[in-house]
Amino acid sequence: MVERLTLNDGGVIPQLGLGVWQVPAADVSAVVGHALAAGYRHIDTAAAYGNEEGVGEALRGSALAREDVFLTTKVWNGDHGRDRALAACRKSLQRLDVEWVDLLLIHWPVPSAGKYVDAWEGLIAARDAGLARSIGVSNFNPDHLERIIDSTGVVPAVNQIELHPGFMQPSLRAFHAQHGIVTEAWSPLGQGQVLRDPAVLETAGAVGRTPAQVVIRWHLQLGNIVIPKSVTPSRIEENFDVDGFSLSHEQMEALASLTGSRIGPDPATFSFGA
Ligand code: NAD
Repeated sequence: MVERLTLNDGGVIPQLGLGVWQVPAADVSAVVGHALAAGYRHIDTAAAYGNEEGVGEALRGSALAREDVFLTTKVWNGDHGRDRALAACRKSLQRLDVEWVDLLLIHWPVPSAGKYVDAWEGLIAARDAGLARSIGVSNFNPDHLERIIDSTGVVPAVNQIELHPGFMQPSLRAFHAQHGIVTEAWSPLGQGQVLRDPAVLETAGAVGRTPAQVVIRWHLQLGNIVIPKSVTPSRIEENFDVDGFSLSHEQMEALASLTGSRIGPDPATFSFGA
């Protein structure tokens, strides 16, 4: 049973979902369809992933009501600015063929463009127009978060950030805790790299689960939203089958003490597509 976290705006989000970055547009409908059949009720996509149409197709093809699936998409770097962000949201809804998304995020802050506060105003407008039930950000550092909060008074519900054993972002997570922002972990499995770590393998052996299940359980116990990606049906099922065991304090600490680093771009400088 997937836990549901309550967001600072009263919204409720399933703690475990499926991420679809790099899932080819031609495959995404089958992949998401399989995940929904396996029990997933939370899908994370983005305009930049180029696969929103297929995600929408899978939703329509399932027997599920729109309310039963938590859907996230993101505004891309070239769509900062209030009106552009609002227009980008409307285009995403068209591609997804839905009337609203549950969560709309600014994908990256792109500090060099200097327009993320305006983009945030666009997301607030999208929420006020009923196009997004909750709004948040992704890859925002504390200084970016402070600026949008100070400028608008609206605290993001979520910050989706790179987070996995070996790259835990403690100061950013502390900032989130202080401000009531839920932490959502992207590349939660370290894009698969973390699964080969000896401490992860040892813990998996000790609890009789797979390395991926152990790392997903670790995120859940930390209170993170976690959105592992796979296109392989058996792994999609495996990553969702994380009930019935828990990690001890020592096992949590063993994973927390992995050494590692950022895999993805640095939010302070990333400006691709802007
Ligand atoms: P991930 O950490 O989820 O790793 C995915 C990879 O791990 C797979 O491609 C596969 O190689 C491996 N894997 C998955 N399940 C496995 C299993 N059970 N056994 C063995 N190997 C397994 O990496 P990700 O795709 O980068 O991140 C997940 C999601 O996070 C993305 O799909 C996307 O939705 C989101 N994301 C967001 C941003 C952002 O900027 N906001 C950036 C990257 C990813």
